[in-house]
Amino acid sequence: MYDSVIFDHDGVLTTLVDISLLQDATWAAFDELGVTDPDPTHVEQMVINVSPDDVHTVAGAYDLDPETLFRTRDEFSSSYQCAAVRDGRKRPYDDFDSIRRIGAPLGIVSSNQQETIDFVLSHLDVTDLFGVAYGREPSMSSLHRKKPEPYYLERAMSELGVESPLFVGDSDTDIAAAEAAGVDSAFIRRDHRADHTPSPDPTHEVSGLDDLLAIDGVPVDGDGDVAADGGVR
Ligand SMILES: [Mg+2]
Repeated sequence: MYDSVIFDHDGVLTTLVDISLLQDATWAAFDELGVTDPDPTHVEQMVINVSPDDVHTVAGAYDLDPETLFRTRDEFSSSYQCAAVRDGRKRPYDDFDSIRRIGAPLGIVSSNQQETIDFVLSHLDVTDLFGVAYGREPSMSSLHRKKPEPYYLERAMSELGVESPLFVGDSDTDIAAAEAAGVDSAFIRRDHRADHTPSPDPTHEVSGLDDLLAIDGVPVDGDGDVAADGGVR
């Protein structure tokens, strides 16, 4: 039996934002730092999949402190995403409530900003559903710790006091982080992953969160019975 289920956040629990929103946030971060006419290539380097080398290269081009550039980028990225959550552009998937039937502790390990994760959970009023919810801190050290590194997953396991979670993700980095932590994984094939071949191989593949309930080893409350009040808690 799995003793817990831990989720990636974006593309698993909530829908992805349009890439243009993250690009707009990054342009705004440069503007905030007084760089009003940045090279579009440099801006693009700071939108997604940012590496420490990217930050150093781009900061150097404008005589900026790398940590300040990255922190500002993260702050704007988070505030733009929170605005999208507030107005419904970023929302929980329709099958979100099915995870309430899992009869084991739940957690989140995301490479999004901690600020974004905290806001989403509070906005959706589901903070108490998760025993632990990790995002990244807004510093460059987090770039060395994020998935595929198992750092935050192992911290989440330790904080939940669990040893055999199932980790659910929509990216190769999720599956790799699970493998590095020595735990099973489930690849969730959302629409944006219709043609993706996950690598490394996940332990399971599901098409939605409700499919998790059918995986052998995932504890389900009520053994599939609908609660007397019709609810799914
Ligand atoms: Mg994801």
